[in-house]
Amino acid sequence: MDQSQKPVLIIGGGISGITAAVEIAEVGKEVILIEKMPYLGGNVVKFNNYFPKLCPPTCGLEINFRRIKQNPRIKYFTSTEVQEISGEKGNFGVKLKTNPQYIKNNCTVCGKCAEVCPEERPDEFNHGFTKTKVAYLPHEMAFPYKYHIDNEYCKKEACKKCMEVCEYTAIDLSRNEETIDLEVSSIIIGTGWKNYDASKIENLNYSTSKNIITNVEFERLIASNGVGENKLLRLSDNAEPQKIAFVQCAGSRDENHLSYCSAVCCSASLKHALTIKELYPNTEVKIFYIDMRVSGRNEDFLVKVQDNKNIELIKGKVGKISELDNNNLLLEAEDILSGMKIKYEAEMAVLATGIIPSNINLDMNLDQNQFIADLQKGGIIPVACSRKPMDVSSSVKDATAAALKAMQIN
Ligand SMILES: Cc1cc2nc3c(=O)[nH]c(=O)nc-3n(C[C@H](O)[C@H](O)[C@H](O)COP(=O)(O)OP(=O)(O)OC[C@H]3O[C@@H](n4cnc5c(N)ncnc54)[C@H](O)[C@@H]3O)c2cc1C
Repeated sequence: MDQSQKPVLIIGGGISGITAAVEIAEVGKEVILIEKMPYLGGNVVKFNNYFPKLCPPTCGLEINFRRIKQNPRIKYFTSTEVQEISGEKGNFGVKLKTNPQYIKNNCTVCGKCAEVCPEERPDEFNHGFTKTKVAYLPHEMAFPYKYHIDNEYCKKEACKKCMEVCEYTAIDLSRNEETIDLEVSSIIIGTGWKNYDASKIENLNYSTSKNIITNVEFERLIASNGVGENKLLRLSDNAEPQKIAFVQCAGSRDENHLSYCSAVCCSASLKHALTIKELYPNTEVKIFYIDMRVSGRNEDFLVKVQDNKNIELIKGKVGKISELDNNNLLLEAEDILSGMKIKYEAEMAVLATGIIPSNINLDMNLDQNQFIADLQKGGIIPVACSRKPMDVSSSVKDATAAALKAMQIN
């Protein structure tokens, strides 16, 4: 293959990987986009809505999915990870591993496989709060739009009920994992973020109560297509909570956990508070914070929240949360402005836990916070949240910059 024809490999099919892929392909270069999950979209696809406009994730993602579908220069592989990278800038050898693709691309999403499937699996899309059949549609805007069979839970040849019922012979349970060898000119890493493990913050007692949840879990609890199907229900008793507390910097800006600021948690909690107000105008919301760090267009949220009589912003770090006998939660905090210690009984507490980089089992240069260091050389280009926490609009700009850098390497 002529060096100038080698494609760019993009690892991670979140908003940054997708953006880089379409930008590169639309100026004429070949792209290979790989994603470890069975669908593209990354964390954004699980949100109820996203700031600054508070539109649903379909807005923004759907157009990009169409651009991918229509562009023959983009090849994408889901359920796929990189096993090995060798070589150097302009001339990398890459080995990919794809999990068995039991459902083929001629799936019509009729759903008969799920109807007859006797097994269940925890639904990772809803953070395990719900279950799906082992033959399942990952979510209603999944791209690629097709059913998937969870290799871990499927009884395969011992069951085969799904194969028997599929009129389109779109299911083949004898398929194995595949390895693919590639030659690429440059590699963009858009592997993004995951939530900090809240159980490590012992004083906030996340593991001891179902009603203490993280901000990421809250997205699926309040989502119209989420756990409560248009209702916000707390997990202990399926009741609609009347008093909700947000705990900012849960483990962030704390030398014992994450020393850095995750940049998006304040805006995310303001977004959550405003979403609660839309659904439940009378619900009491309190946000405990150290500093309210919002910038740009997100400042509008802060003003809206400050204007809302049922949302209170309390400057003070929550020192402890304990569960009471009635499953409510007692938050203990210091109100910095009044100098008083306060106790607040909430029915649900949402921990604004920070962002940490997703693991990638490849030998990478990391910075002091374990994000991938942007060395500006070497042909491997980290993008967006794989290199530092940032919101969607910054991720998209970062992806465009990464695309430009990658295209200059031949
Ligand atoms: C609670 C919360 C709410 C937020 N709300 C908003 C909001 O309203 N508006 C906003 O602008 N921003 C918001 N953000 C920030 C937003 O989530 C990020 O800006 C965005 O997800 C960054 O996109 P990304 O592509 O870098 O990463 P991700 O969205 O994390 O995507 C990375 C992708 O890479 C895949 N991947 C990971 N490892 C591998 C691997 N080894 N091989 C292959 N694929 C891999 C992942 O499965 C994933 O699909 C919020 C963040 C949090 C924590």
